[in-house]
This record gives sequence, C-alpha cells and structure tokens, in this order.
Amino acid sequence: MMQRPICKVCNQNHSAVNYIRKGKTYYRSMCDGCGRSQNKLKPRKPLWQKGGYKKKATCDLCGFKGVFVSQIAVFHIDGNLENYILSNLRSICLNCVEVVKRKPVKWERGDLEVDY
Ligand SMILES: [Zn+2]
Ligand SMILES: [Zn+2]
Repeated sequence: MMQRPICKVCNQNHSAVNYIRKGKTYYRSMCDGCGRSQNKLKPRKPLWQKGGYKKKATCDLCGFKGVFVSQIAVFHIDGNLENYILSNLRSICLNCVEVVKRKPVKWERGDLEVDY
C-alpha cells in the first residue's frame, strides 16, 4: 500500500487525494491548501485590465447586450495583445469576434470615445 505523500509545496501537510481507482488512491503533488492558493494565482490579469480598460456589457459592433460577461470579449483592433492603450480596445460579442477575425471592420468614429 502506497504511503500518503507529503505536499511538495509546503512540505507539511499530506497531499490531497486526486482520485481513487480500483481501490488504489492517487494523490496530487500538493495539499488542499496549497492547491487552492495556486488556483487563486492562476488567472492572470489580462493586459487590457492593467491598462484600465473596462469590458462593456454591450457589443461595440452590433449592440448585443450580454447576459454574462463571458459573452463579450475584449478585442485589440491592431491584433497586438500587448497594445492595451484604450483606443486599441473594443468590447465585442463572441459573434462579432468571428466576424472581425475574417474581415476588417471599420470602427465608427463614435466608438473611439473611451467610456468607463
Ligand atoms: Zn501544502
Ligand atoms: Zn456583436
């Protein structure tokens, strides 16, 4: 029978159970606590967020109003994800993402205004 390993991160707690198959227990490389704090670190802040851009609830292209924030994506007009100046960023719905990927879109002048 395999001994329960010690967490590789904190070297203190027992590793968390990953899954049990055919009566054999498989462990994660870290304990519950460390696993949780690692998960928290994971979602890296997108650059546009650092630049102070706030994703809108409404699509800048078609006016679609999202029910969930995940329906709207932040689009970089010049395609450069590092260029997070506000005039390079648009909030567009996932439908429009498919459109702008395939054909160039002329952004209306009114869209160039930054709103918070
Ligand atoms: Zn740990
Ligand atoms: Zn749209």
